[in-house]
Amino acid sequence: MSTPYTPSVLKPKLKVGYYHHDHWRDINGSAIPFRENLTIPHVCIYGKDGSGYWSTTDFIYATTCHEVAHVSHWEMVGEGAFALIWLNPKTRIIPESWAEAVSWQLTRNEYKRFGDFALSSADFNFSKQVWSNNMNKYYTPIFIDLIDNINQRVKYSGLLNYPNDNVTGYTVAKLEQLLYAFMDLDLLEATLLVNKPSGVTNESIKELGFL
Ligand SMILES: [Zn+2]
Repeated sequence: MSTPYTPSVLKPKLKVGYYHHDHWRDINGSAIPFRENLTIPHVCIYGKDGSGYWSTTDFIYATTCHEVAHVSHWEMVGEGAFALIWLNPKTRIIPESWAEAVSWQLTRNEYKRFGDFALSSADFNFSKQVWSNNMNKYYTPIFIDLIDNINQRVKYSGLLNYPNDNVTGYTVAKLEQLLYAFMDLDLLEATLLVNKPSGVTNESIKELGFL
């Protein structure tokens, strides 16, 4: 991710705050990188969501990575470009799904030292492989599916509303280099097609069903 965060007059560093309670909108976290308020951090993370239960620490870790990924994305493409893709319902899949991919990868990296069980638990909870196309259209595995080597349509008994994922070989680092070009789904597809890892075909990218 982008480092260092561009300092401002009032906030020389990116401030991340954890609140040991829920939020009135039942959100897990939020990021406002341009916030210039001395008492409120740029990134806010909440210990409880709408479920009424305390979140587990891996979930809090993943949420924090998700929100910081938004800040980094905002910095990399610029405030104006980020606002365009964020505010348009047709392109919001890009920043939200990107933040999910960064969050999944960083949570994997952090938890793998606790062994295979922690790794498979991080994958189960954060890799979005149980996402189907009748679920939320913003938080999707579109980027995770470019990286992982699981085909959830096969794994989940051939159900057609799971992505048919025969793509693997992209990395978070590679996709981050291309992030500036992902301004809409057409540009995302065109950029992926000309930056394919070896063994990936144009058809397999289209078969994922997002583009
Ligand atoms: Zn988000």
